[in-house]
Amino acid sequence: MERLDKILSGTGRWSRREVKELVRAGRVTVNGSKARSAEEKYDREGLVLEVDGLPVSGEKYTYLMLHKPGGVVSATEDPRQKTVLDLLPPHLKRIGLFPAGRLDRDTEGLLLLTNDGALAHDLLSPRKHVDKTYFVRVDGVLNQEDCAAFAAGMKLEDGLECLPAGLERLERPDEGIVTLREGKYHQIKRMLEDRGKPVVYLKRLTMGPLVLDPSLEKGQWRPLSAEEVQALR
Ligand code: URA
Repeated sequence: MERLDKILSGTGRWSRREVKELVRAGRVTVNGSKARSAEEKYDREGLVLEVDGLPVSGEKYTYLMLHKPGGVVSATEDPRQKTVLDLLPPHLKRIGLFPAGRLDRDTEGLLLLTNDGALAHDLLSPRKHVDKTYFVRVDGVLNQEDCAAFAAGMKLEDGLECLPAGLERLERPDEGIVTLREGKYHQIKRMLEDRGKPVVYLKRLTMGPLVLDPSLEKGQWRPLSAEEVQALR
C-alpha cells in the first residue's frame, strides 16, 4: 500500500504539494471516486487513477528522459561535482532514480533516468544489442576509410576491441552519426582518437526506440509517455 501523493508524484508530473492541491480541488479520482486525501494509501495493483478525467498510470517505476547538458556527471551522487540528479526537483531525488547508462561529463543528450533496475539492466546488457546513436564532431575530416574501419569492428591501439559500429558522414566533413551497440568507457572518443580524429563534441540522440525529444532544452527532462515505456520493454 502506498500513499496517493507518492504514487502520483512518482510519475514525475507533479510534486507532492501539487498532488495535495489537485486532490483538494477535486481533480483526482481513484477507481472512479473522487480522492479524499493525498495521504490515503492504495494498492497499486489494478489501481485506476485519473486527473482531470484523464488516466494516469500508477506505474511502480518512474522513467524520465533527460537532455543532459555538459558539465554534469552521470551518477547519483558525487562528493564534488554536480550530478544529473541535481537537475531534478527534490521529490524526484528521493525515489531511487539512477541513469540507465553513462555519458561522459562533457557529453550531452539523451539520458534515461529510472528506478526500474530490471529494465535498465536489459537495456545495457551487451547481449540485448540496443543501438545507441550519437552526433559527433571531430577535429579532422571523416572519410570513407573511417566508416569502413567502424563497420569492420576496430581493435584499438590501447587494446580495446569494439564490435562493428556505424559511422555515417554528414554534410560537414567533421560531423557524423555514430551507432554503437555497446557502451565501453569513452568508446567513441577512443575509436575516433585511434583514427587520429579526436572528438570535440558528442551528443547522444537515441537509445533503442527512445529518441531525444527536440523540445527539451539542455538540462530539461520529462516523463516518458506510456508508449515510450512500452517500446523499451
Ligand atoms: N562514447 C564516448 O566516448 N563518450 C560518451 O559519453 C558516450 C559514448
